[in-house]
Amino acid sequence: MLNIVLFGPPGAGKGTQAEKLISKYNLVHLSTGDIFRANIKGKTELGTLAKSYIDAGNLVPDEVTIKMLESEVDKNLAAEGFIFDGFPRTTTQAEALESFLKSKETSISLMIALNVSEQELIKRLLLRGKDSGRADDANEEVIANRIEVYNEQTAVVADFYNTQNKFEKIDGIGSIDDIFGRLCDTIDNHKVSL
Ligand code: AMP
Repeated sequence: MLNIVLFGPPGAGKGTQAEKLISKYNLVHLSTGDIFRANIKGKTELGTLAKSYIDAGNLVPDEVTIKMLESEVDKNLAAEGFIFDGFPRTTTQAEALESFLKSKETSISLMIALNVSEQELIKRLLLRGKDSGRADDANEEVIANRIEVYNEQTAVVADFYNTQNKFEKIDGIGSIDDIFGRLCDTIDNHKVSL
């Protein structure tokens, strides 16, 4: 299986690139943010629980998020691999994912981080907030909190994969196709060395 973690702060372009990667490599896209939003829209119990955290730009508790992610993987066990987008966001999530994948006799192949400056992130998120309908994209305070949460709780997850020699960082500035090209080169080089 080819299991990629697409990493980077909010607004780095993970969702856009994930959509392109799944069709090229025939993978299943698992975006925890998208799954939470679908649950909020469907007014499920999970959605009700997650909403207050998401609206404030805080992380949904690990226990809830991990359980949800595992059940999504279980629904797609015939997949050739996964793009994990927005997960893991804490070291606890990374550890849980590792042991869960191990129980399925697979593992993360590679984490790729999209590197984008904070100034550019805020610009992109505010622009996205105008037409995405996402309340957490439209409010500058919530955006600032999401970036702070990323720096304080999520950025460290890169170390988890770096110590396993499974971490690569690419420039996340440029056209969508340029960035996609960099991602594909990184994945293809990694596959050769597997
Ligand atoms: P995203 O669409 O990835 O920007 O996620 C939107 C929001 O969903 C985040 O700000 C969090 O509140 C929540 N969320 C998404 N993924 C996770 C995760 N792995 N752990 C905790 N909360 C998450």
